[in-house]
Amino acid sequence: MPCPFTHIKPWADRMPEECGVMGAFQPDGESVKDAIYYGLYALQHRGQESAGIAVADGHTVRSYKAMGLVAEVFSGEEAISRIETGHIGIGHVRYSTTGSSEACNCQPLVVKYREGWLALAHNGNLVNAEELRSQLEDDGHITQTALDTEVMAAIIARKGGDLVEAIKHTMATVKGSYALVVMTRDKLIGVRDPLGIRPLALGRMPNGAYVLASESCAFDAIDAELIRDVRPGEIVVIDEHGLQSIRTETPLGSKLCLFEFVYFARPDSTIDGISVYQSRYNAGKYLARHFPAQADMVSGVPDSAITAAIGFSKEAGIPYGESLAKNRYVGRTFIQPRQELREKGVRIKLNALRKNVQGKRLVLVDDSIVRGTTSKKIIDMLRMAGAREVHMRISSPPVVYPCYFGIDTPDSDQLIGAFHSKDEICKLIGADSLEYLSIDDLLKTVEGSSCDFCQGCFNGDYPIPVCQGGRHNGL
Ligand code: AMP
Repeated sequence: MPCPFTHIKPWADRMPEECGVMGAFQPDGESVKDAIYYGLYALQHRGQESAGIAVADGHTVRSYKAMGLVAEVFSGEEAISRIETGHIGIGHVRYSTTGSSEACNCQPLVVKYREGWLALAHNGNLVNAEELRSQLEDDGHITQTALDTEVMAAIIARKGGDLVEAIKHTMATVKGSYALVVMTRDKLIGVRDPLGIRPLALGRMPNGAYVLASESCAFDAIDAELIRDVRPGEIVVIDEHGLQSIRTETPLGSKLCLFEFVYFARPDSTIDGISVYQSRYNAGKYLARHFPAQADMVSGVPDSAITAAIGFSKEAGIPYGESLAKNRYVGRTFIQPRQELREKGVRIKLNALRKNVQGKRLVLVDDSIVRGTTSKKIIDMLRMAGAREVHMRISSPPVVYPCYFGIDTPDSDQLIGAFHSKDEICKLIGADSLEYLSIDDLLKTVEGSSCDFCQGCFNGDYPIPVCQGGRHNGL
């Protein structure tokens, strides 16, 4: 069957978005600047390329956004003064691939249409955005960014009328993942896609303000309490009358992203009823139970694999110790465009603790192997520092398929798990042994969640049909 989405660019050219969103509504009219700013600060791990805040005071919407970390973007007088007054606010931190890392793609996106101001901040990825963008352009619509968010704003604006109805229409039109915060001059709205692929939590501050955030760790930073997660397909409208929940149809069931628990989210967050920390700890425990190793010390690759390594160590009865020091001031190495830069990046970011590893048989836990760059470099370093054996244990199954829903994984031809068996990978990365957590065990780590899970990157079973370089999956 020919691919109906042939105009969708192959993955390498596309623009995966790993982002964090935040929203706040203060019924007493106080400024939300601090709540949004500190909330975004706590969500910085979800995106380090740009940051932005938009605020509304009942009459108008103002915003400030720029490339850089939250603290860098909001360090100057001008930035602060732009967001000083306003009792409603939304914020965004963004990470994208290098090519699309441009100021025009910073969020929140602020537009004016016939019903007034509209500001949007989005975490996720639409799989039919290019198709919709082409349709809009064919109709004479002008676009100024490469953002999926702009496509959603255009669909809302063209529908016009009641905003909730326009959002419902947009939800029925777009396909993909979105945790969305929308703001008008007098309303804050949270929207989670019908599959709930990306998380969105609802909280309340001691002064009664409602807050929305990608992860509950943002609430802790501003003394807010987690009320619950926004449900898949739910729209929450917060205005001077309080909070209203509108449920839309979710015929396909929920498909929360498993990789949020494996790597992306902060361990101090709770997503759809599951503590990220606990799920990682349990992943380490199951790894130790099913894939033990004769070793003197268990170690985790900082930061995301440390919890799983502690779980492994406790279960196996082997002491936990640090084997790698991490330079906290280095950004992400993962997305460097060239392999040699990526390899250099790992070397600068991590260094072996010679004193701890010399002469030892190590179990080294990492949360995932994607291209294999990190594991190979780290194992080389540990051996150079005198480690006698390195037994690699991975707290997720092999990543075999790219993600189309908002986690930045490369195209399949760069995924080591797509072309090599476990034994081959073990040899390629230079480990003494290699084992991965099974998908069944990974699912056990999130048992009890109110959601079902997307396992697309592990088994290719995508919750929405996607087109991979002309090939279909799931149609
Ligand atoms: P690689 O070197 O390509 O095998 O990548 C694996 C390493 O990157 C692991 O240490 C992970 O913690 C980390 N990682 C996994 N997924 C991502 C992602 N989407 N963005 C950034 N880092 C990641």
